Amino acid sequence: MKTEMKKEFIGGYHADQRGYYGEFGGAFIPEMLYPNVEELRQRYLEIMYEDSFQKEFHQLLKDYVGRPSPLYYAKRLSKKHQTKVYLKREDLNHTGAHKVNNTIGQILMAKKLGKTRIIAETGAGQHGVATATVCALMGMECIVYMGEIDIARQAPNVARMKMLGATVRPALSGSRTLKDATNEAIRDWINNPVDTHYIIGSAIGPHPYPDMVTRFQSVISEEIKWQLKEKEGRENPDYVVACIGGGSNAAGTYHHFLDQPEVGIIAVEAAGKGVETGESAATSALGKVGIIHGCKTMLMQTEDGQITEPYSISAGLDYPGVGPMHSHLYTSGRAAFYSATDDEAMTAGLELSQLEGIIPAIETGHAFAIFQHKTFEPDDIVVISLSGRGDKDLQTYIDYFKL
Ligand SMILES: *Cc1c(COP(=O)(O)O)cnc(C)c1O
Repeated sequence: MKTEMKKEFIGGYHADQRGYYGEFGGAFIPEMLYPNVEELRQRYLEIMYEDSFQKEFHQLLKDYVGRPSPLYYAKRLSKKHQTKVYLKREDLNHTGAHKVNNTIGQILMAKKLGKTRIIAETGAGQHGVATATVCALMGMECIVYMGEIDIARQAPNVARMKMLGATVRPALSGSRTLKDATNEAIRDWINNPVDTHYIIGSAIGPHPYPDMVTRFQSVISEEIKWQLKEKEGRENPDYVVACIGGGSNAAGTYHHFLDQPEVGIIAVEAAGKGVETGESAATSALGKVGIIHGCKTMLMQTEDGQITEPYSISAGLDYPGVGPMHSHLYTSGRAAFYSATDDEAMTAGLELSQLEGIIPAIETGHAFAIFQHKTFEPDDIVVISLSGRGDKDLQTYIDYFKL
């Protein structure tokens, strides 16, 4: 397994030595943060590929997270859309989504770096919960920054984090949402450079985060390859499809296929109420190059470069940018980008529930909305990343469908 997770995925569609994907990526950080990021940059690959690290990482993925997650042939969905659809079941992971693959990896990284304290930022609370979970697992102090507005909106996840022993600190400035929580986390890291590791929750942030997160999540595509080989006699599907917030489940789903030109890469963003309505999170359609969260990437901004507030019915896609890998996949044409509205994602979520008995997260519903935008060939093999389960979204489903 370890040989699959090589150092050789460097350059091309992967990050180069400086953390660039084409023109995107890099590390645009305040001077005071340089030592923290530099320590991580110098050591992450070496640590990640140590035998002892690999062993512990894969053991935890197996026994704690419940991997490998099944690759499930969705018979009724396939019939409905006249193509062969496989679902990569990240919804069955402990904590209910793909995010834990990354937080397991990063907590082990933090331990190897000798850190004793973990900080994170969270918007909807999903990443906060995944981080609080692994901190409990490892007995590490955990501080999660969260906008005051988000704390009020996401009470169940706040309760989960507290139950897991984390401290949730409200960000009281600005719009009191995700970007303000990020600023607070960065401020904390500057003040605590020696003992603290900052766990970023998506394939975003300054180099080496996008690459590190992608490598941890790449267990998804690594498994798809051998699972598809078992089921279909070939490793490569015709398409891989994932929804994109910051882009970590997508990056993990694409990773081993990026250099295989016969595999079509499909990304689905959140169009919210519609790309033209001003209430959306469709970064590829609306974004321009800028700097967010320490990296150069596509982001939604005003004429004078102010980051605009994104909107999506799914809290996990409600992010004004995409990770630098995805900006490069978009501008290079390697991936096809689509955007799905709230209505399309909700309809797709209901369809998956009733055809396959799987209630997806609303984020994930966006990936399944691909069938409302594209027709596949009958013998195409389409693998969709089922990034998370819908339990957390039940109230939204209830309100939307008047259940
Ligand atoms: C957080 C989340 C996403 C979006 O994050 P990415 O980093 O883009 O993967 C998608 N699906 C689910 C279920 C999530 O919890």
